[in-house]
Amino acid sequence: MSFYNTANFNDWQSVASITPLSSNDDLQNLGSLGNWDGALDLATGQLLQSDATTSASSPPRFQTNASDKAASLQQYRAEQAKHHINHFSGKISVSTTFHPNAQLGQPGQLPDIILQSVDGVLFHVHYDVLNQISDNGFGNFLQEPSPIAFNQSSQGLNIILHAIYDIPAAKFHHPINLLIDTVDSLTSYGVHPSRLVHRNSSLFQLLYLHAPQHPMELYMLAGAHRLEELAIMVSAHLLSFPLDRLSDEMVDRMGALFLKRLVFLHLDRIKALKAILSQPPPPHGCGDDPQRAWALAAASVANDAMAGMSPQMLVSSMKRSAGDMRCTHCQENTQRSLGIAAMKWANVKATI
Ligand SMILES: [Zn+2]
Repeated sequence: MSFYNTANFNDWQSVASITPLSSNDDLQNLGSLGNWDGALDLATGQLLQSDATTSASSPPRFQTNASDKAASLQQYRAEQAKHHINHFSGKISVSTTFHPNAQLGQPGQLPDIILQSVDGVLFHVHYDVLNQISDNGFGNFLQEPSPIAFNQSSQGLNIILHAIYDIPAAKFHHPINLLIDTVDSLTSYGVHPSRLVHRNSSLFQLLYLHAPQHPMELYMLAGAHRLEELAIMVSAHLLSFPLDRLSDEMVDRMGALFLKRLVFLHLDRIKALKAILSQPPPPHGCGDDPQRAWALAAASVANDAMAGMSPQMLVSSMKRSAGDMRCTHCQENTQRSLGIAAMKWANVKATI
């Protein structure tokens, strides 16, 4: 429980504790409450007990002679999942997003299997949803009887399931390392990360939140799994990354193709900057020499040119050239040329 009480996880809305129930009738009643959040408050079980009397004579819900085989199978798994939950002793924790009555799959299709994280949190999910997105029966875990002891922490499993069901999960404020490790682990469950990380998917949004602070980690992740859209969007945050700080390990992880694209992004932008700065203001014939002043400033800027220089930085660096002139006409021309240069620079391609 201390795991959920830490300050960092005050927003961990999807996990709550419930007291295990003692009979199938109680479980049926729990389902019949129709409000899982309310059910979670019933740790004492008092309300459940009073409800139990009302449905003690309910017929078994599982129909062995159901004509629809798929529906029958789904129902069977749901019953099995409910049966197994009875065998837990002591307190158990259940995801409040992936709970027994969650309406997350096809309309009317309740979860039919349970995944249990290594730290004991239960996630109620749909066999078909997991099976469809995986090439290997979700790392062969789907072969096992429910509840399935899964090899992920509740945090990791929470990320994976939100991604598969495409449910926004930004409220959990996942640390970047956890997100990256979790995405890396997807291949072991037969799920290629590109199936879950694409523009506007919940996992994409989750990762991209970290782009301003951790662009290189995300770029390496994108390169490692060929996540094209993530790599493109994250690359805009790498314009000021010093390429001489790339280690062998970083290059290895992102791969040759994405290294090349990043290097060329920097080179192409610096080339474009130099081309923009090669267009000085027009000559005037007065005592000032705006073209020479421009050339001197441009040489200085180009010397320590950075792909990530902002248009504002470009203007302030170049302004020296305007300061030395007395002719107002030449000052205005230089100002105009600076404005044009800044506009052109702002429009230079800023992503791979
Ligand atoms: Zn002049």
